[in-house]
Amino acid sequence: MGTTAPRLDILAPLSGWLVPLDSVPDPVFAGKMVGDGVSLDPTSGSLLAPVGGVISNLHSAHHALTITTAEGVEVMVHVGIDTVMLKGQGFYPLVQQGQQVSAGQPVIDFDIDQVGRHAASLLTQIVVTNGETVTRMQAAQGLVTAGRDVVLTLELANGRDASPLAGGEPSLSAEIAIGNPAGLHARPAAVFAAKAKTFASDIRLLLGDKEANAKSVVSVMGLATQLGDRVRIRAQGPDAEAALTELARLLDERCGEKADEAPVAPAAEPASAPQQDSDTRLAGVGSSPGIAIGRIVHHRLQEFDVPEQGQAASLEQQAFSRATKEAATQLDLVKAQLSDPAKQAILSMHQELLQDPELLAQTYSGLADGKSAAWSWRAAFSAYSARLEAQDNPLLRERANDIRDVGRRVLALLAGVKPATLDLPAGSILIAEDLAPSDTAALDPAKVMGFCTRTGGATSHVAILARSLGIPAICGISQAALRLPEGRQVILDGGEGTLTIAPTADEIAAAEGEIARLAERRAAEAKSSMLPAATRDGVRIDVVANIRNAADAREAVAKGAEGVGLLRSEFLFDNRDTAPTEEEQAAEYCAVAEALGKDRPLVVRTLDVGGDKPLSYLPLPKEDNPFLGLRGIRVSLERPDLLRTQLRAILRAAPLTRLHIMFPMVASLEELRAAKAVLAEEQQACGQHEVKVGIMVEVPSAAVLAARFAPEVDFFSIGTNDLTQYVLAMDRGHPQLAKQADALHPAVLAMIAQTCDGARAHGKWVGVCGGLASDERAAPLLVGIGVTELSVSTPSVASVKATLARWSLDDCRQLAEDVLSLSTAVEVRHRLNQSAR
Ligand code: PEP
Ligand code: MG
Repeated sequence: MGTTAPRLDILAPLSGWLVPLDSVPDPVFAGKMVGDGVSLDPTSGSLLAPVGGVISNLHSAHHALTITTAEGVEVMVHVGIDTVMLKGQGFYPLVQQGQQVSAGQPVIDFDIDQVGRHAASLLTQIVVTNGETVTRMQAAQGLVTAGRDVVLTLELANGRDASPLAGGEPSLSAEIAIGNPAGLHARPAAVFAAKAKTFASDIRLLLGDKEANAKSVVSVMGLATQLGDRVRIRAQGPDAEAALTELARLLDERCGEKADEAPVAPAAEPASAPQQDSDTRLAGVGSSPGIAIGRIVHHRLQEFDVPEQGQAASLEQQAFSRATKEAATQLDLVKAQLSDPAKQAILSMHQELLQDPELLAQTYSGLADGKSAAWSWRAAFSAYSARLEAQDNPLLRERANDIRDVGRRVLALLAGVKPATLDLPAGSILIAEDLAPSDTAALDPAKVMGFCTRTGGATSHVAILARSLGIPAICGISQAALRLPEGRQVILDGGEGTLTIAPTADEIAAAEGEIARLAERRAAEAKSSMLPAATRDGVRIDVVANIRNAADAREAVAKGAEGVGLLRSEFLFDNRDTAPTEEEQAAEYCAVAEALGKDRPLVVRTLDVGGDKPLSYLPLPKEDNPFLGLRGIRVSLERPDLLRTQLRAILRAAPLTRLHIMFPMVASLEELRAAKAVLAEEQQACGQHEVKVGIMVEVPSAAVLAARFAPEVDFFSIGTNDLTQYVLAMDRGHPQLAKQADALHPAVLAMIAQTCDGARAHGKWVGVCGGLASDERAAPLLVGIGVTELSVSTPSVASVKATLARWSLDDCRQLAEDVLSLSTAVEVRHRLNQSAR
């Protein structure tokens, strides 16, 4: 550092006349209470950044913002006097908080006439709010031109620019391994970017020699991180150190994503292997089950003619900012018509993209080169969607469609084209190269019987939306589908992934029969859902529900559940800063028990966290193989304080219901005995002995040794989700293994049979509470193997009960005998499909 103090020039944010600050008719500014600087009487309505830096504050009324420069100087620009009262009316922000801007870049547009008419004054203040960073300030005078003339010259406090705190030197984190099974796909990327935006510093996520703007979802997704990738974070700016610490922690916590929340191809509705095209059938990937008959309607995306050259940059800016605002309002309207939170979340993501700093930065750079807003925006979103499209990770490829969707929405507004609405005739089968998620969300299931898209897969938002609307759908259909004549009758099978293009009268009749049969079946099931669950010959099977809390318990009972086979108690521990107290837990367990009443069973599983299900307030060592580490009962035995509190709370529900306590992830008898010893002490202390004790069978050792566990438990409940993972050595959240990690694999079924044999020898009962129990086709098989309780998701209660009522116990046993001799999951599925009733 030399002897000359570093200088910083502040450019005119608007054109107009400079006025000394002390003559501003507002004592707060005139008295320099906000900071020293200068005022300006504007003649232009496009506010430019007076310095380069990060938008460290953008007032919610959009009339003022602060930019923090790399040297740590905070420059505030406040348009007008008392303009906060306008509550944003007439102001159009072009940037958002946390965004990096360069000097001269347009940051807020405002309607100078409207603001002038309603505000006390248009005088605009440019002040330094942290005066300690400045030793001298020289204000210019007279007429200035926005973005060209200097209005303030600052001499900075010596050494300020070299201080890392001020952002001179970037800080770098240690390497962090990505723990998200599908990498930083849309959801974790959005969580990460949202956190990064809360810091003023410039923050980058580094992977090898690639880097992403940490504040941009599209940029973070574009990095295409994968499970196990080692990344670093680089931050430069006034709060760089805090940013590194918090963001590194967030990545360590997988940006809040639980391993079993990571999106995978829908395992509950196993997609069939893609079939081959034939003369009469086109094949794709079945992405939403069901059969539909209808007539083809093609949907082609509109083309927009956009001029490359723009008008004045400020006009283009204004148009762009209006279009993004309008697009956000449109999305709000579509969202308001939806009741499904999953669909709303997809549209919220689109709104988020409208403010993505990388998309905006790229658009602004086009405007700065004289291009039109439409041309610049299209170039920006097309580049990012193409980048995602080229990724190996299917979850990232699917998000390219979301970027294009929101991109086209803004483009239509800029081009002044009314977007073509999907107003389709009744009985349509929609065929499209690509269907925008927002269009899909707005489809009317009464008119659209089904749809096929060329692009997309089972994990696409389009597929998710189709399933939630109950519309059969196929993604990845072959190109030939786009050339089929409009109006032709076809049959779409969303389970098989086939489109029959010239159905014979017999095929149509068969499909109609199948559709009618399914509809009748669902209606009948709903009617008989409150009857006791039993086989056709009257053998009682308990069909109970998996729940998280008392609200779920009430819903389950209303839908016919005969009790609760799995209360996942970890949901009471989640999303908090401290563990719930005994009182808090007891209140919820008692509320669940009351919802069930004294005659229905309640199985409470003790805390099943650790490894893949972290709790922020439960420090556990970082593990290379969290699925094989401290999980379930192992955590409770490490932390007996937590276990004791929980057991005391659970026992308080005993007088209210038929209480069962279940320990998760038990691998050895020692673990069971240690947990039971703690329970016995707590029972002794509270005098409550009316409780049954069981274990989850999720680890192969528990299944193999079921006969040795049986004398020491009252019951077993098989967690097929984890059991499948451990028997097949396939991560339950792995997107590519989703199809193979099949609970109907003969090895998993053999483990279930072994558990039943071991339990039967000691007169103990076996339930299944993993996802397999909710599959109605598997229900007779499980009963035939010896399972007497099926704990299912609430929407499956009716269909599982109805299926059991169609089977006699002997038939179930015969089915089990046949299936247990098969060698592959495909054979098992085939056999179950054949025997489905
Ligand atoms: C299971 O593993 O099948 C199970 C029911 O437990 P969870 O899905 O909660 O791990
Ligand atoms: Mg489990």
